[in-house]
Amino acid sequence: MRVNTLKRVAVAFALALPGAAIATVVAAPAAHADGCYTWNRTLSQGRSGDDVRQLQIRVAGWAGYRDIVENDGRYGPKTAAAVKRFQQAYGLRADGIAGPQTFAKLYQLQDNDCTPAHFSYTELDNGCGGSGWSGGPLSANQTKQNALRTMWKLEALRRSLGDKPLNVSSGFRSRACNNQVGGASDSQHLYGNAADVTSRTSSLCQVARGARNNGFSGIYGPGYPDHDDHVHVDSRRENNSDSSSNTTSWSAPDCGVGAGND
Ligand SMILES: [Zn+2]
Repeated sequence: MRVNTLKRVAVAFALALPGAAIATVVAAPAAHADGCYTWNRTLSQGRSGDDVRQLQIRVAGWAGYRDIVENDGRYGPKTAAAVKRFQQAYGLRADGIAGPQTFAKLYQLQDNDCTPAHFSYTELDNGCGGSGWSGGPLSANQTKQNALRTMWKLEALRRSLGDKPLNVSSGFRSRACNNQVGGASDSQHLYGNAADVTSRTSSLCQVARGARNNGFSGIYGPGYPDHDDHVHVDSRRENNSDSSSNTTSWSAPDCGVGAGND
C-alpha cells in the first residue's frame, strides 16, 4: 500500500511537471523586467501618467543646455528631447520615443531601489554621518525623491564625461548637519536637492561646465568662494519649497561658468 501510494504521488508529480515547465516558459517574458519599476507601454508625446513621471525622473539629466525636464507626468517636447539625448548617449536609435530598447537600457542602469548604477542612497545621505533623510524642511520621503532625481542627473553627467567616476562628498543634510558644516541657511542640501561633487579623473571645471547640460540649475565651482575643492550642483529651479525664486544660478568664474560666460 505504501509503495502504491508513493507511486501514485510520483506519477501525479510527473504529470504535473510538463505543465509547470510550460507555465514557467510562458510566464518569463511577462515577468517584471526589473526590481524597481517596469514600464508596460511605449511612451511618446501626448502620453501622460505615472509611467511618464517615472521616465522623467530617469531622463532628468538629459535636459539639454540650461534646461530642465519637468516632473509633471506629461510627455511633452522637452521630455521627448531628453529621451532622444538619452538614446544618443547610450547608442540607441534616437527617436524620442520610449519603447522597449529605451526601457531595457533603463532597467540595466537602475538598481532594485531605483537608484542609477553608479550612485546610491547611502552616498547621498552622508551629510554628517547619515540621518535617514529626516531633519530637513521636507518629509523624509520627499527628500529621498529629490535625492533620487539628483542621482539620475549625476548619472547623466558621469556618462557625459565619458563614464568617469564622480564622488559625492556631501548630499542631503539635516538642519543640524547643515549648521554644523556652515551651509547656507536655505541650502538646497536641506532638500535632498544638491550634491557636492569631486572627481579623480575629471577636472572640476569639466564637471562644472558639463553640469550645465544635465539639468542642474544651481552650479558653484572653482573661483566661487569656498568652492575650489568641489563643484556644488543642485536643482533649485525645481524646488518650490525653498525661499528662492525658481531661477538658474551658476558661478564657477575660473571655469568660465556664470555671469556673462554661460
Ligand atoms: Zn554644496
